[in-house]
This record gives sequence, C-alpha cells and structure tokens, in this order.
Amino acid sequence: MIYLDNAATTPVFPSAAAAAMDAMTENYGNPSSIHKAGQAAKKVLYDARKTLVPLARGFSAENIILTSGGTEANNLAVAGVLKGKIRQGGSVFLSATEHASVTEAVKEFSKYFNIVFFEPDRGGHITAKEIESKLTKDAVFVSLMLVNNETGVINDIDSIKPALKRLGADAVVHSDCVAAFGKVALPSTADVDLISVSGHKINAMKGVGALYVKCGVKLKPIIFGGGQQNAMRSGTENVPAAASLAAAAKELFADFDGVKARYEALYDKARKLLESLDFVRINTSEPSSKAVLNVSVPGIPSEVMVRFLQDKDIFVSPASACSSNKGGGSAVLAAMRLPDELRKSAVRISFGRQNEESDVDALYAAIKEAAAHFRICEAK
Ligand code: PMP
Repeated sequence: MIYLDNAATTPVFPSAAAAAMDAMTENYGNPSSIHKAGQAAKKVLYDARKTLVPLARGFSAENIILTSGGTEANNLAVAGVLKGKIRQGGSVFLSATEHASVTEAVKEFSKYFNIVFFEPDRGGHITAKEIESKLTKDAVFVSLMLVNNETGVINDIDSIKPALKRLGADAVVHSDCVAAFGKVALPSTADVDLISVSGHKINAMKGVGALYVKCGVKLKPIIFGGGQQNAMRSGTENVPAAASLAAAAKELFADFDGVKARYEALYDKARKLLESLDFVRINTSEPSSKAVLNVSVPGIPSEVMVRFLQDKDIFVSPASACSSNKGGGSAVLAAMRLPDELRKSAVRISFGRQNEESDVDALYAAIKEAAAHFRICEAK
C-alpha cells in the first residue's frame, strides 16, 4: 500500500503504541487517586505535558489542556473564550478556510458577536494585508490556522498581534495548528494565546489532542464534572492517549530538521514531476508546509481519481477526509475562487514519515495512466 493521505491520519509509531500499551496495562491507575498507582499515572500525564510544552515557546506545562483531539481543542478555544465575552460583545475574526471544528463552534455564537471572515488570496493564503484591512478595534477573538489542511499553505499569523496592538484591541488569538504540528514550528506566545494540536496527525493514536493556553488567558470550561485539569476539562484523563501523543512527539521532534528535509524532498519531487504534465494543475502555492500537495486533473472528478489510484493501491483524498462527511465539496477551494473544473477534480496528496521517493514515482505513473485511461491526453 502506498499511503499518501497522511493529512487525514497517520499510522501509529511503534513507540507511541508501546507507550499507550504501558499506560493501559502497567500505569493504569486513575491520576486523581492519591495512592502510588494513581500517582504513577499522574506522572505519565506530567511527562506528556513536559514533552509538549517546549514545542511552542512561552507556554507552561500547567496550561496544556489534554483533550479528545483537535476538534475538542478548537471547540474549547472558541467556546471557552466567547462564553466569557457574551456580555461585552464585539467582533470575532476567522478565516474562510478554517476547519469546521472552528467555523461551526463560532457559528454557535453568531447571536452575540459580529463575525468577520478573512478571505484567502488566489493561492489560498490569508495574508497580512487581508488581516490588517479587516481587523477592527472591537475585536475580541481571532482564529487563524497556521497551515491549511487541504492545501498546505502557511498563513501570516504573525501579523495578527501587531495589527491588534496598533488598533488598541484586546483580543484573544487562537491558532488551529493541527495541520502545522510536526511540519513547521508551532507559534510562540508572541504571536498567539491559544494553540490546538492533534495526536493522530503525528503518528500518535486517534482521540487525543491538546490546547496550549497562554498564562493569564481566561477560558470557561465546556465539559463539567469532577474538576480534572484545573476544572478546565473534567473527566478522568485519557492516560494511554496522552502517553502515545508524548511518545510520538518525542520521536518526531528528536530529528525535526531531518523530518522537514524529508517532507521537502518528497514534495519537491512530486511537484516537479506533476508540474511537467500539462494536464495537471497544482493548487498548492508557496509558502507551504511541504506535507500537502493539492492538484487537479480537469476532466477527472476527484472521487474517480481517488478510486482509480486506489485500484493501484495508492491512497489519496478528495479535498479533506472531514469534508467528505458533509458533502458539497471543499469550502477551502471555493473560498480560493478556484474555477469549478479545478475544484471538482482536486485531490490532496499528503506525505508522512513512512513515505519514500519511490511512492512519488508510483503516484506520477498512476496519474499519467489515469489521464490516458480517461483520454485526458494521449499516453506518453
Ligand atoms: N483542524 C484541522 C486543520 C484538521 O485537519 C483536523 C482533522 N481533520 C482537525 C482540526 C480535527 O482534529 P481531530 O480529528 O483530532 O478532531
């Protein structure tokens, strides 16, 4: 199998599976129990936070909230801040290319706030110019993903805080870094107040994520109960999942430069090969994470291409795995004002640590075959 759908999810590292197994069978105590078994489990959580904290400068371990994934981290960021600002009101800013776990959460508050969207440029980027032209003094919350999960483009998140400062606006800045995690450096507290990450995009198990919270940022909980995690996220902590997240992060960040170089080599090769085919259009523009390449073959609908490649044992996605549950095509590509024929034929190729350059060769050959099969061009 040639798995090129790593933006949807990734295989679990043996080290991450072993860490989870250990937490399930050895350190299985409840971290709230005061006895030794409980304290051993509590230490697993402590170690997990210690591993995560240096990955984003300026945050502290006590302010990392472990969640059930990126969706919950995003929901907590949005609802946790906005619940506390309902009386104040004001404007909420987010990009038109956010993941549904941000957009849908913001929609829940549309009665109380003025909601403003940053629009991407033709390349899919949310630029500093767009951010600066839209932000207003009454901003209370800004959410902008660092890397887009469908195209891989990197947005100008470092322009938000300076623009807010110039306006004299006191807004909380959140970044969904699920697609950025493990591909580019996470932002620091100089640029953002809240960061969401997810485990299953970096070779940890599914159903675990984290919200980094800058010291002093006021959040209201969205899950109530026994008061775990400083009452910010009640419920017995998922110790095995946290252990797997930390183990995967440890392995990945031990050689982050090496990992990035590998992504770059795969991306550059794929881009160069596919660009040489006159029937292929590249939808990813620079700067990008180098982990995602979005391309279209006009005339071959996305689903048809995905199935054709599957028959060759190559796995890619039409747009994103999440948007396929909702139908209606990619909101991201629509926001980019991509022509209809490119939108309908877009596929997302996303690299992972297990991929080899030979996977890219196989993909290139299969796309050429698809074009010949569907008579988009003559076989070369
Ligand atoms: N944000 C982005 C950018 C994503 O790609 C995803 C996963 N598709 C999420 C949030 C949600 O993360 P999770 O699957 O861990 O809930």
